[in-house]
Amino acid sequence: MQVFNKTLDINTSKRVEMVDITEDVEIILKTVSLSQGIINIFSRHSTSAIIINEHETNLLRDLEDTLEALVPENEEYGHNTIDNNADAHVRAVLLGGSQSLPFENGKLDLGTWQSLFFVDLDGPRTRKIKITIMGE
Ligand code: ZN
Repeated sequence: MQVFNKTLDINTSKRVEMVDITEDVEIILKTVSLSQGIINIFSRHSTSAIIINEHETNLLRDLEDTLEALVPENEEYGHNTIDNNADAHVRAVLLGGSQSLPFENGKLDLGTWQSLFFVDLDGPRTRKIKITIMGE
């Protein structure tokens, strides 16, 4: 078994933005020439998330609207006494900061309607994603 560590830089342009990183991760996976194993995609930030779901424009808006309904941006939060992004932290905890998935024949083993997204919850910023690839 071999282990590779890679990074992926992502520039976002809005405060809340869902960026489809499926192709970027596939390209990184090809550079290591492993045929099967597990890939972990980890966001090294506490106001962002990594999710797997369908890339459909209306659904992405539904997700944004649901985050706003569950964790409104303009609410009273303790953390906002020292910062102004408590909603982004809470949303990040709900979505989760990493995903692990299998790959086979050098390709991500995603379902037909699944894509991999980086979710910025306090952009716009440049974000660093850590990718760990384990396999043979
Ligand atoms: Zn903060």
